[in-house]
Amino acid sequence: MRLCSACLLGMKCRYDGRSKANEKVLALSKREVLIPICPEQLGGLSTPRPNSEIKGGDSSDVLDGRAKVLGSDDHDVTEHFVNGAEEVLKLAKIFGIKEAILKQRSPSCGSGQIYDGTFSKNLVDGDGVTTALLKRNGINVISEEDI
Ligand code: SF4
Repeated sequence: MRLCSACLLGMKCRYDGRSKANEKVLALSKREVLIPICPEQLGGLSTPRPNSEIKGGDSSDVLDGRAKVLGSDDHDVTEHFVNGAEEVLKLAKIFGIKEAILKQRSPSCGSGQIYDGTFSKNLVDGDGVTTALLKRNGINVISEEDI
């Protein structure tokens, strides 16, 4: 049993109100239980919503209060991102989860690479906020590209 970004399983929870259904993830869901989670919705953000990026540091800095997550409308959504990450961690603990499959490049779910905070599609090394919190708690995170 693993956690999985809900958008990869076909839920229309992305900032643009669409899903990002992934064939490999859907095939995997026929063979194993994948618990769908969307940290941004769990953190109280609506759908659709402005897209967001991490500014002024990395996801660890966000968790430690040294950096922010801002929407493309400049709205500060840091609290929503941190709350959503904590809700996902709660679920992981309830179900004894050891690994999560999370959507690559998302400011919540990304692992290894995320956008650089300039809203210009530039990628930098780093994790999303939820990924960082899960890793801090010993939960392995892979992306749909690792399947
Ligand atoms: Fe998908 Fe994660 Fe973004 Fe939700 S927060 S839409 S699960 S990438």
